[in-house]
Amino acid sequence: MMGLLSKIKEFFKRSNGVENDSETLVVLVRILCVLLTPYFLIVGIFLVSQLKEGIGALFIAGAAVLMFLLFRSFSVEIQKCFWPLILILFLTTLFSCSYIGWGLGFQNHLYCIVLLLLFNPKLSLRLKRSFCFVGLALLILLAVMQNYQELLPFTKAEPAQWNSLILVVNEITFFICVCAIGLTFAGISQEAEHKLFLYNEKLKQAASTDPLTGLMNRRSMENSLQQVANQYKNGTAIVTVAMADIDFFKKVNDTYGHDAGDYILKNIGEELLQFMSGKGDAARWGGEEFLLVFYSMNGDEVFTLLDHFRLRLGNRKFVYREQEIHIHMTFGIAEYDASPSFVDTIKDADQRLYLGKSNGRNQVVF
Ligand code: GH3
Ligand code: MG
Ligand code: MG
Repeated sequence: MMGLLSKIKEFFKRSNGVENDSETLVVLVRILCVLLTPYFLIVGIFLVSQLKEGIGALFIAGAAVLMFLLFRSFSVEIQKCFWPLILILFLTTLFSCSYIGWGLGFQNHLYCIVLLLLFNPKLSLRLKRSFCFVGLALLILLAVMQNYQELLPFTKAEPAQWNSLILVVNEITFFICVCAIGLTFAGISQEAEHKLFLYNEKLKQAASTDPLTGLMNRRSMENSLQQVANQYKNGTAIVTVAMADIDFFKKVNDTYGHDAGDYILKNIGEELLQFMSGKGDAARWGGEEFLLVFYSMNGDEVFTLLDHFRLRLGNRKFVYREQEIHIHMTFGIAEYDASPSFVDTIKDADQRLYLGKSNGRNQVVF
């Protein structure tokens, strides 16, 4: 028995392979498809037997579509099953209430529609509120059509009886109650989901950013480079990397203090971010080492740009607690050769950087 229950649970919960789909909505759509298919089929056959062939056929067709939607819910985005389900419920409500009557309870489909809409996380709370009002308006319209035809122009129906007034008051009151309960819970869960989303974004940001400089950290740059390497397997891409290192940075720390060193690193991070804007990515690779990745630029172009940047940086004076600090940097450039990873390219850039260091620093080597 337990085994069967867990198999049923697994069936309803099975992933549809769409990353951002809400599991709750997927399960909800599947449960409704399974519950409503026999209902649509039985009601459809009954209506046909009672010579209401048109509406009966609509219900039978609805059952077939529901089975199809259940099947589809395992492979497509759930919204593609959600909206047809809403449409089937809506059409059957409208046609059955209009043509067969209010007294049989087909208006109850509206409860299902409204609750489904309220628990769809892709819809905003404002839209959900509007759907409740539309649902209520529709319910009132159907009630008027069925019970108060004398209120409608061009109809000569008998006046409504007092008990149908109770029926209408009941339907409308409880529809409003269902909307209120659903909206309240949808609001709470949507707010919680939004907070969780913001928190996740913050975590993701923190995990991929270097806190001191605000640049990408090494791990996030390595991931990004691997993606580039995967995309550019055919060898047509032009990607150039540069390894940059602050010269004699230890001396900055020793002379002005570690806080001054941090201040310089932070400012260089800002300079690099500005310089790389529109050209590519920059990451803090190690203590005072940065990796720059230029997209759609060859080594010669990068050399010219970096040499300008190097000169500008060398001329800038950093002021920390009224002390003037001058720094310069050395750069090593290497072009990516479309190999399966960037490891060798970065090694080449590193070797050229150290060539620059041993040749007197404050230079770009390609
Ligand atoms: P070179 O020109 O050969 O690169 O000399 P250097 O002094 O820059 O190189 P070295 O590798 O000897 O020293 C790097 C220094 O960077 C040592 C370390 O204290 C400092 N450093 C690394 N990370 C930080 C940091 O986050 N903040 C500060 N203030 N200093 C750091
Ligand atoms: Mg250094
Ligand atoms: Mg270094």
